[in-house]
Amino acid sequence: MQPVVKLEDIHKIYGNDAEIEVHAVRGVTIDIQKGEFVALMGASGSGKSTLMNILGCLDRPTRGRYLLDGVDVSGLDRNDRADFRNQKLGFVFQGFNLLARTTAIENVELPMLYSHQRISASTMRDRALKALEIVGLANRADHLPSQLSGGQQQRVAIARSLVNNPQVLLADEPTGNLDSKTSVEVMGVFQKLNEQGITILMVTHELDIAQYCKRNLILRDGKLVSDIAVKDRFIAEVEMGKLKQAEADAKLVSGN
Ligand code: ADP
Ligand code: MG
Repeated sequence: MQPVVKLEDIHKIYGNDAEIEVHAVRGVTIDIQKGEFVALMGASGSGKSTLMNILGCLDRPTRGRYLLDGVDVSGLDRNDRADFRNQKLGFVFQGFNLLARTTAIENVELPMLYSHQRISASTMRDRALKALEIVGLANRADHLPSQLSGGQQQRVAIARSLVNNPQVLLADEPTGNLDSKTSVEVMGVFQKLNEQGITILMVTHELDIAQYCKRNLILRDGKLVSDIAVKDRFIAEVEMGKLKQAEADAKLVSGN
């Protein structure tokens, strides 16, 4: 089977003056098949964001080849690359990046406005509402971000990442701004999407969050130093049940 993401000996060197240049990614080769759920880990400065920018077609490698769904991205010009990115990829960020004065459903509609295909207003509504349903927020469609909790805002952002039916979701520290219970909830949404066939690649520095994924990659100094299948994967629903039970027990003890 053709991998959906194929990185071949990717290098990224920032700066063109030998004195100040930074070799941020040093020969990374990775295949990711459709349906995988991958956590990319590594200490600060190890090259995670650099690699994610390349994967997201936001930046180009200095050397090496990147095939996304079989297409050599480096062969595309700027505009084609932007279109291709819009068709194939969904993005989720640590800080949610929702427009503040815009309702949940309008935020979710945004990527369709940038899409090349002409989509009617009613189709956009329908698709946005469907995406909100998938993340369990159809009943919050007309709320502003300020009227939603952090976890709900991140779910809106996930809905937004889904509306162009991407092959791959790229998420950079998607639980970084959330408390641990909300993080589990959001990982549950990702697990559900992954079960439906979406390939997910997420950066995280939290070991327990990586445990919800199926495969863990570790970068060190720009090199891939570990690539392992997760054994005893956490299932969000199960972990959520444990948390609720612990809360109930604590209430019994405290008598309220
Ligand atoms: P991580 O996301 O794992 O913390 P980064 O990919 O942000 O790592 O950074 C990897 C290395 O590249 C670091 O040494 C960082 O200082 C350097 N770096 C990142 N972006 C740039 C840039 N635009 N110009 C120069 N150096 C950069
Ligand atoms: Mg980073």
